[in-house]
Amino acid sequence: MQVLIVDDDFVTRRLLQARLVQMGLHVIEAVNGKEAWELLQANPIPLVITDWLMPLMDGLNLIQQIRAANFPRYIYVILLTNLDSKTDVVKGLEAGADDYLTKPFNLPELTARVKIGQRIVALEQRLLAMSDQLYIQATYDQLTGLLQRSAALEQLNLLVQRAQGQQQPLSLLLLDLDHFKQINDQHGHTVGDQALRLIAEQIQQTVRTSDPTARWGGEEMLVLLPGANSSAAIATAQRIRRAIGGQQLDHALPSSELSASIGIAVLEPGSSTDEPVHSIINRLLSQADQALYAAKNAGRNCCALYAEPQPLIIDKSA
Ligand code: GH3
Ligand code: MG
Ligand code: MG
Repeated sequence: MQVLIVDDDFVTRRLLQARLVQMGLHVIEAVNGKEAWELLQANPIPLVITDWLMPLMDGLNLIQQIRAANFPRYIYVILLTNLDSKTDVVKGLEAGADDYLTKPFNLPELTARVKIGQRIVALEQRLLAMSDQLYIQATYDQLTGLLQRSAALEQLNLLVQRAQGQQQPLSLLLLDLDHFKQINDQHGHTVGDQALRLIAEQIQQTVRTSDPTARWGGEEMLVLLPGANSSAAIATAQRIRRAIGGQQLDHALPSSELSASIGIAVLEPGSSTDEPVHSIINRLLSQADQALYAAKNAGRNCCALYAEPQPLIIDKSA
């Protein structure tokens, strides 16, 4: 852990430095608040021990700047000063110091108080790591690494609004694996899971990294294509379908076993300007679903584009 010592007095800095190094800390020094503030902006050191009275910028000012800056991580600050009246202690703590020590300091006490700071900083790091972990779990599907359904809906919400605002098209591909139950039945669930991972990889390799791809349900995937009109969406859907058809599940099995059907729905620019976003989303999802159903009925391993009065089956050879 790094610690920043801020003091204009050379002897104090040497004393502090020796003890903090003994404690296993990596010590960085500044001779006044201004220098410390510049250092912190480049590197938000989590632990600061600062003097109060210094030229250019005093410790109180430094602490106020730190608290106002809202660094992404907490900075624990110990004020170490000659000012020892109760009024000063209160003033220092109210400015945002976490702890207050007076000079001349007692080494064991300083050590104990620095350890409190280390505990707080370590606790915050653990909480942040945990919240990152929770975010990942809530956002991504564990098996395939694709977005989860709820995260995909958030993206869809955002992209529909953006498409409307920028007068750009937005396409949805709803993909469902063909006869996937048979694959599980014949080769076992582990091979089925392996196939799902493989297919997720194929889809991600086929679309742009910026195109959100989700595991919509068990063996159903949703791909969002911002900016894609119907011909671009059809081209992408066909590329995905061919990539999946070319996959080998197992070296012992023929590749022809895996295939997918894809339903396509397109939000054209300028359409449904008065329609609420949630209603556009429901409509697009329902249209993609109807198109997918039509693709299944047309014999599977093909794509269908939602259209009135009925979905348009895309020629398999196209
Ligand atoms: P269709 O061509 O009509 O889509 O036929 P299907 O067999 O794919 O459709 P159905 O909906 O009857 O079956 C879907 C199967 O997907 C059932 C289930 O065993 C399988 N499945 C869903 N989620 C998972 C999963 O996480 N792992 C594995 N291995 N299989 C899954
Ligand atoms: Mg001083
Ligand atoms: Mg299926």
